[in-house]
Amino acid sequence: MNMVFKRKLLIPKEIKEMYPISAEGAATKRANDESIRDILTGASDKLLLVIGPCSADREDAVIEYISRLRPLQERVADKIVIVPRIYTNKPRTTGIGYKGMLHQPNPQEHSDMLRGLIAIRKLHMRALAETGFSCADEMLYPENHRFLDDLLSYVAVGARSVEDQQHRMTASGLDIPVGMKNPTGGDLSVMMNALKAAQSAHTFIYRNWEVESTGNPLSHAIMRGYVDSHGISHPNYHYEDLARLSALYAESGLQNPGAVVDTNHNNSGKKYEEQIRIAKEVLHSTRHSAEIRKLVKGLMIESYLEDGCQKPDGGVYGKSITDPCLGWEKTERLVLDLADLWV
Ligand code: PEP
Ligand code: MN
Repeated sequence: MNMVFKRKLLIPKEIKEMYPISAEGAATKRANDESIRDILTGASDKLLLVIGPCSADREDAVIEYISRLRPLQERVADKIVIVPRIYTNKPRTTGIGYKGMLHQPNPQEHSDMLRGLIAIRKLHMRALAETGFSCADEMLYPENHRFLDDLLSYVAVGARSVEDQQHRMTASGLDIPVGMKNPTGGDLSVMMNALKAAQSAHTFIYRNWEVESTGNPLSHAIMRGYVDSHGISHPNYHYEDLARLSALYAESGLQNPGAVVDTNHNNSGKKYEEQIRIAKEVLHSTRHSAEIRKLVKGLMIESYLEDGCQKPDGGVYGKSITDPCLGWEKTERLVLDLADLWV
């Protein structure tokens, strides 16, 4: 084997005992879970807004960002439910580059997986304790979900993982919403098949246990745009794309048909400022068609303290070291505008 077994790591139960969630934190998460679930089941007609940096590169800037979201959430509480993105593990197109806080608690230093596991738990705990947000993360490594399962209110299965059986079966065993993205190539049948798998019961191996899942009725679609066979980026947030998704849902028999539109990635072609126009266009489509209004549950926006992005060693506080993000001023304006536009 070309692999050195360096050291055995702590299991989720041990790390949770070292860093336990408070009773108050657990109650806050339960309340957050309920308001998010109500959106996905249609019991609430608020807009779900999964928003935050592409990657949570440093604790101080992420906590500052999420602390700014709290008063903004209060201002738009009658229309919008905010779930901050704290993305602690990043999929990479070529496998190379910064893989997130889980791998590198300090992006300038070497990988340290034990420190990483502790750092991501502490970051999600701080967010919950200091801001009352239980956040979203990507489920890049299904086996790792239990390090954070008592803290998260939303997970996404990424475009590069959505065809993977272990991701789909693990999603079927979660009791929080799982957004399944369309794959990078854009084939919506892959995403619909992922939703079918996630909403079904399975018996499988998870963390060396034989487990049974009951299926997750809160799993739903995320439209993130796609690249064609020539490497050209194409959007899938337009009216016609959403109508097509609605038709696919109608013939699928899936529970709680719902879509979150990711305004960055291949929808914006990573032109981060386009997220403003894209978010508003999606809301316009919902006003034009009752069917699309019923389908669209929310938006996913990449946003941080500063506009744009920098190299991992760029050193600017609050500026993304992965995908380019909308800075704070534009974000605040956009969220207030979305609250006005969501009817
Ligand atoms: C992300 O949300 O930052 C991400 C990596 O998304 P995707 O899986 O759509 O590329
Ligand atoms: Mn991103």
